[in-house]
Amino acid sequence: MGLLTFRFPDGALVPRLGLGTWRMGESATERKDEIAALKLGLDLGMTLVDTAEMYGEGGAEKLVAEAIAGRRDEVFVVSKFYPYHAARAQLVQACEGSLKRLRIEAIDLYLLHWRGSVPFGETIETLERLVADGKIRRWGVSNLDVPELEEIAALDGGGNLATNQVLYNLAQRGVEFDLIPWCAGRNIPVMAYSPLDQGDLAEAASLRAIAQRAGASSAQLALAWVLRHPNILAIPKATRLEHVRANRAAAELRLDAATLEALDRIFAPPQRKRPLQMV
Ligand code: NAP
Repeated sequence: MGLLTFRFPDGALVPRLGLGTWRMGESATERKDEIAALKLGLDLGMTLVDTAEMYGEGGAEKLVAEAIAGRRDEVFVVSKFYPYHAARAQLVQACEGSLKRLRIEAIDLYLLHWRGSVPFGETIETLERLVADGKIRRWGVSNLDVPELEEIAALDGGGNLATNQVLYNLAQRGVEFDLIPWCAGRNIPVMAYSPLDQGDLAEAASLRAIAQRAGASSAQLALAWVLRHPNILAIPKATRLEHVRANRAAAELRLDAATLEALDRIFAPPQRKRPLQMV
């Protein structure tokens, strides 16, 4: 079956389940396995790849370049720049560095990794220029809470914000209270990072029985749960091929009301505003 998709307001269609690359591209001995995992993910339709200049200090972007070689057009590449590269000259330079490592002409979605000291206005103006110059196709942010999104929305060009990538999984549900509704109301997808709580949810004893009843593994249950909302994209990282396959299969799982209620009893939904968490 085809993967669940999200269509950006500008028409670009992406799968809602993609591939994370944090902690990839750091070790020569893992390299072959990491490339094989990314290639398998692409073969299975998970063609949204999330990376950052930070990951492996450029090593992950180089790895992505190798994994997408010869099939650039199938892939939607997301990368991120350090907050201390968010000023005009540094941002243009950081973008050139990412393009070179990724060996592509343009980044599909370029994100401010977290908030730093550079005013949003300067960063957005530069991002808009990068779009006009064809270096990036669209831009977004990561690890920003609602008041910061409001700040951005009020700025020139702020309406072009294409995503907010935040920590979201069963064990960290704070964003359900306000951030997900804020984004959904504006047709801005939320990109859920660490959807498996960095692997912890795959081991969670509390999930085992519910997962078994749903005919899935705990990791698959956790992933299907994140994907239950049409405005959410998830980018699990997996180096083991069986994990890549399992994650792809999780996108086919539909959780019934009884399963969702059972999960709510273990991982309670937020009843009030919580500060945005990040890893
Ligand atoms: P994650 O995706 O929640 O968990 C990754 C861990 O789960 C790995 O140890 C992986 O093992 C394991 N795993 C994957 N699929 C599994 C399965 N089906 N069954 C059992 N275990 C499974 O954690 P993450 O890497 O922190 O987050 C995902 C991506 O989000 C990152 O790679 C990165 O691209 C992005 N991210 C962004 C930010 C940000 O600040 N914007 C922060 C964190 C992460 P193997 O690798 O051994 O297969």
